[in-house]
Amino acid sequence: MASIFARILSGEIPGEIVRETDRVFVLRDIAPQAPVHLLVIPKTEDYANVVELAAGDPALLAEMVGLGAELAGGDFRLVFNTGEDAGQTVFHVHAHVLAGDLSEGSLV
Ligand code: 5GP
Repeated sequence: MASIFARILSGEIPGEIVRETDRVFVLRDIAPQAPVHLLVIPKTEDYANVVELAAGDPALLAEMVGLGAELAGGDFRLVFNTGEDAGQTVFHVHAHVLAGDLSEGSLV
């Protein structure tokens, strides 16, 4: 079963994709926790979390970080919830990019 993010990428369900490269896409989070709240997601569903991704394809992880930094447009917070007990709900690895006024202190 495709992840919710893969279903958005394929156009099956709606979502605001703000950037796409050969291997990565960036989605605006449906429930933003900061003025800028983006999800940077590899197109492949091979990796459930950042630990698997770092071990399996570090260049892809580096591309995600670079794209997140570019789109944040300034200082930003990068969050990878890793595992259910850490709040991960979608097991298709994704980076939360939070930017803008973070004084409310959202850690996602
Ligand atoms: P996690 O809890 O796995 O770290 O993050 C999942 C994120 O995906 C949450 O911030 C949630 O708001 C976002 N999300 C879940 N479903 C959708 C959706 O259908 N569309 C968009 N744009 N974001 C979603």
